[in-house]
Amino acid sequence: MSAPIQDLVLASGNPGKLRELSAMLEPLGWNVKPQSDWKISEAVEDGLSFIENALIKARHASRYTGLPALGDDSGLVVDALNGAPGIYSSRFAGAGADDQSNIRKLLETMEGIAEPARKAHFYCAMVVVRQAQDPAPLLAIGKWDGRILMKPVGSGGFGYDPVFWVPGEKCSSAELPATVKNRISHRGQALSALKGQLAAF
Ligand code: IMP
Repeated sequence: MSAPIQDLVLASGNPGKLRELSAMLEPLGWNVKPQSDWKISEAVEDGLSFIENALIKARHASRYTGLPALGDDSGLVVDALNGAPGIYSSRFAGAGADDQSNIRKLLETMEGIAEPARKAHFYCAMVVVRQAQDPAPLLAIGKWDGRILMKPVGSGGFGYDPVFWVPGEKCSSAELPATVKNRISHRGQALSALKGQLAAF
C-alpha cells in the first residue's frame, strides 16, 4: 500500500530545490508545494545561525499556509575568518552582491592566508515544522569539508563552488558532475538525513 499524500510547503522560491525535494519526498507520500503558491511575505531572517534562520522560514511558511513546512538555510563557513561568510554567504560582498563579487571578496579577504589555514565547510540546516508553533521540529544538518582555493577553478555549480576544493574528489566543487555533488554535498547529506526522519513523521 502506498503512503497517504500529505502537503509540505517549501519555504523557498528556488525551483532547483523544489525539483530536488519533490523527487526525494514524493515516494514517501509528500506533495511538496512552493510557498509561491501563496502570497507570502518574506520572512525576516534575523537568526544568528543557519538553524535559527531555517526555523524562522519554516514557521513563517507554516503560519501563512496552515500546513507543515520545510525551511532550509545554507552557506560557506571559513575557519580562518571565524566562520564568515556564514549566514551572510549570499551577500558577502554587500547589497546587490552576485557569485562573482562574493568570490572576489572572499579571495581578497583571505589574501596572505597560506594553504594549511584555508579549511572551510559548506553547512546546511533543514527544518520541518508540523505547524507554526511546533515545539519539536525535525532538524537535519549537513556539513561538507573542503578548502578555499587561491583562485577559481571550473564552471559548474553556483555560489562559491569554483573556489571550494573537495579533497576526496581532487577537484573544485564547480568541476563535479551535478549527480556527484548532490550526493555528497551539505544539502545532499541534510536531505538524506531528513528523508529518514520524514519516513517516521
Ligand atoms: P541558500 O541558503 O541555499 O540560498 O544559500 C545561501 C548562499 O550560500 C548561496 O547564495 C551561496 O553563496 C552559498 N551556497 C550555499 N550552498 C552552496 C553550494 O552548494 N555551492 C556554492 N555556494 C553555496
